[in-house]
Amino acid sequence: MKQKPINAHTGIYGIIGHPVRHTFSPSMHNGAFQACGVDARYLVFEVCPGSLKQAVHGLRALGVSGFNVTIPHKEAIIACLDSLDREAEIIGAVNTVKNIRGTLKGYNTDGEGFVTALRKSGVSPGGKRVVMIGAGGAARAVSVYLARGGIKTLTLADAADRRAQSLAKALKKHFPRTETRVTGASKAALSREARQADILINATPVGMKKSDPLLVDKTVLKPSLVVCDLVYNPPETRLLREAKQSGCTVMNGIGMLLYQGVAAFEIWTGVVAPTGVMKKALLSQVERKHR
Ligand code: NAP
Repeated sequence: MKQKPINAHTGIYGIIGHPVRHTFSPSMHNGAFQACGVDARYLVFEVCPGSLKQAVHGLRALGVSGFNVTIPHKEAIIACLDSLDREAEIIGAVNTVKNIRGTLKGYNTDGEGFVTALRKSGVSPGGKRVVMIGAGGAARAVSVYLARGGIKTLTLADAADRRAQSLAKALKKHFPRTETRVTGASKAALSREARQADILINATPVGMKKSDPLLVDKTVLKPSLVVCDLVYNPPETRLLREAKQSGCTVMNGIGMLLYQGVAAFEIWTGVVAPTGVMKKALLSQVERKHR
């Protein structure tokens, strides 16, 4: 479908972050607007931490229809919003904002994105024993949706132990049916836990660099284990490469990135997202980066 030229009624969406110029989101969302005939454009707004309040004030005053929020504003944005959906409140971070007749409502679609990608890979979270390495912003979002999806146990480990403890506390309060506990982040402790798990998730940036270590012993990578890495750049981390070679089911972070965008698009427009178009746009960006 041909995109309508920009006019007086064109909806404005975008992303705020710092740094954010590397983002793949504009091609995904602009492609989706065009495919669905939605008269809107998605732009990138570089907003440094000291300017967040002013930037949100400006977006609100200009009547921007909605926006994504990325590092480092996902938590600080909450103070600038009028309301939050339940999951975003539990997670304590927002990645999607919708302008509803002048009031700004925050959502977090990262966790939903992960769980949708997991299901699309043929893995249901129900009844699963999960080990998650990392307890930062992404891990918080993913674990809330995994708990909501009915996982049996969740073992958390983070280099900053207090972060894992605080996440475990929040999960125990809101999802008492999931047995949540914290373990150490040493290779020995992680390997011991991963041996008992159905799903192993890396929610740390470890794996983005070629020289990064494997956080678990290779012997835990059994074919029955599902191994997920939230890292999408590179698309195949050392963990995923080794897991694939060992016969595990593997999933990188591209699916999560895609489906968080799909969920955001649907929150904003109320239109069923053209997932195929968004996936194609995203993959072509990833490919270009790795050419
Ligand atoms: P974050 O808030 O910085 O959290 C990462 C956590 O991992 C921190 O608590 C960090 O502790 C911990 N950590 C680092 N190295 C570790 C290790 N060797 N063992 C145990 N814990 C370790 O980052 P984030 O926003 O959650 O993002 C995490 C990863 O997910 C990034 O690679 C990001 O690109 C990816 N991500 C992907 C998507 C997607 O759509 N696919 C979305 C969001 C994020 P310290 O702070 O003490 O180092």
